Amino acid sequence: MNKLLIVGTVAFDAIETPFGQTDKILGGAATYISLSASKFGIKSGIVSVVGGDFPKEYFEKLNAKNINTDGIEIIEDGKTFFWKGKYHNDLNTRDTLITDLNVLADFNPVVPEEFKDTDFLMLGNLHPAVQMSVIQQIPVRPKLVVLDTMNFWMDNTLDELMEVIAKIDVITINDEEARQLSGEYSLVKAAQKIQKMGPKYVVIKKGEHGALLFNDGKVFFAPALPLEEVFDPTGAGDTFAGGFIGYIAKSGDISFENMKRAVISGSNLASFCVEKFGTERMENLTYDEIQKRLLQFKLLTQFDIELT
Ligand code: AMP
Repeated sequence: MNKLLIVGTVAFDAIETPFGQTDKILGGAATYISLSASKFGIKSGIVSVVGGDFPKEYFEKLNAKNINTDGIEIIEDGKTFFWKGKYHNDLNTRDTLITDLNVLADFNPVVPEEFKDTDFLMLGNLHPAVQMSVIQQIPVRPKLVVLDTMNFWMDNTLDELMEVIAKIDVITINDEEARQLSGEYSLVKAAQKIQKMGPKYVVIKKGEHGALLFNDGKVFFAPALPLEEVFDPTGAGDTFAGGFIGYIAKSGDISFENMKRAVISGSNLASFCVEKFGTERMENLTYDEIQKRLLQFKLLTQFDIELT
């Protein structure tokens, strides 16, 4: 069975959408990635940090999904990373109201022995210095290293982020971040420029408008499923990344053809994440539901046309 190591925030989130708001609930990039990847029955573990205020039940929730949390350090007298966001009426855009790094500010990650030979590495959203430290602690290069990041780190730690970007295979970012990183408005040109920075594969997430996969002159598009109800897009990008790397880790196949399926798998899982606030939908999601919706994806995108 392939191993997947996930690095990223484990957080408290406070979310406001046009449909309501939540107090501090379980969130964080690594949380969403791991819940999504756990649907593939692989051996996964998280490297992160939380404060003494982080409830034990949250660890139990992750452990119940077979997610190893030995790599989540607890700083007893510190506070857990906190993020507050407010979505606009279109639900595709949001404002970050608060980012309190707290214990993340001076976190030195330690990769558990058990994951030093990980087959796949998912560098989820957090400080690029932490992402780099994890890369350096793994002696044999994993089969695939995937990075997800966001504008916050481009604004505040660009040089460190560029060093990480030079070392990875796949980057997943949203359209605005791809434009910011490359300085190009056209996503095709942006992807070309980003490939020159290091990653051979660039995945650009476009929220309700799907995702694009670029590699060496090739491009593939996965739609997002048109949903009747979207409550809270928080974590959709991370859930996408978890569905992408989870699919690849399960199959062990890192070809472009398989990455196309992985992008569909990521879109499929993200479509569930947004249906409820926070992690709720991902916690209860069943294998049958995932399979049924994959069929919907097939029906949405397949057509026959005669070329004359
Ligand atoms: P997404 O909606 O996929 O972009 O991810 C939302 C999650 O990212 C939330 O659960 C937040 O806790 C987490 N998050 C927000 N800002 C940051 C940041 N600057 N670094 C790492 N994680 C973050």
